[in-house]
Amino acid sequence: RIISPRPASPNEEAIERALRPKALDEYVGQQRIREQLEIFITAARQRSESLDHVLLFGPPGLGKTTLAHIVAREMGVQLRHTSGPVLERAGDLAALLTNLERNDVLFIDEIHRLSPVVEEILYPALEDFQIDILIGEGPSARSVKLDLQPFTLVGATTRAGMLTNPLRDRFGIIARLEFYTAAELTKIVTRSAGLLNAQISEDGAHEIARRSRGTPRIANRLLRRVRDYAEVKAKGIITGDVAKAALAMLDVDPEGLDVMDRKILEAIVHKFDGGPVGLDSLAAAVGEERDTIEDVIEPYLIQNGYIQRTARGRVATLSTYRHLGLAAPSSGGT
Ligand code: ADP
Repeated sequence: RIISPRPASPNEEAIERALRPKALDEYVGQQRIREQLEIFITAARQRSESLDHVLLFGPPGLGKTTLAHIVAREMGVQLRHTSGPVLERAGDLAALLTNLERNDVLFIDEIHRLSPVVEEILYPALEDFQIDILIGEGPSARSVKLDLQPFTLVGATTRAGMLTNPLRDRFGIIARLEFYTAAELTKIVTRSAGLLNAQISEDGAHEIARRSRGTPRIANRLLRRVRDYAEVKAKGIITGDVAKAALAMLDVDPEGLDVMDRKILEAIVHKFDGGPVGLDSLAAAVGEERDTIEDVIEPYLIQNGYIQRTARGRVATLSTYRHLGLAAPSSGGT
């Protein structure tokens, strides 16, 4: 999928790293979070203390990892990167924590997927910068308290609701990342084009921006594909028309919806009479994983009114029918 919101390959990850803004004032959009972080970081630095723990939530590709790196850089400390599913045993986390230096940032991606035993270790670490570890086995085993350096946990998750309450309560700063506006994404595309040495007009950048599902990762990916197209077909210059033609070739429609988005809208309308339909039935009908639909695909569709989420399931809206070029039934839809 061109719209797939995770880095598709190690190669893409390397490109993403190169395109990542490094400082808070290069980070486009998310103004409220930026203002808050700026104040909290300045205050923490003035007191030579670690920044409060930060929880970032929102769909993939909106800039959570980027922001974690920026926090570390602005604090003038190192960042250690790990993720919930990678930390299998309590010892994995204990090893990471005991190696942190004063005020370092520990970034845990997909923090909602931490196992309960690992999460247990995290509580006292977050609260008192201490961990309890078990030494030895059997009857001679004993628990030892270890002091840690003060540190900042930056946790990222697609859905804050999937965190346990005790974990969520330990974050002092909780920020929800929003989808980006077309104007913000135009800035991001223009900046990335500069870094990639691609020639792009304002129209070209805007065309890519407005079809990127509000998501910088997708904007950067579309930019690279459009650049390929422009190099082969248009002497390397990305104008509005070149971008339109390239995106049509990639099956990204004028609203930025791709094949899977349309498949979901079509399934709700044609297979489930406009809904309501439960997530599991919908997932089975389109051959996509339930979690992917819920975390990755539908947030944008819901925010933009293509799907309504109700207690009984997902429902088609007037926009669903309009987007598919269908007349809305008089009794169905909303
Ligand atoms: P997440 O961790 O939320 O999945 P990332 O931080 O990995 O998202 O961001 C994906 C890509 O999008 C990064 O490579 C970065 O270049 C770009 N990006 C994200 N947010 C911004 C932003 N606010 N300004 C500019 N580029 C951004």
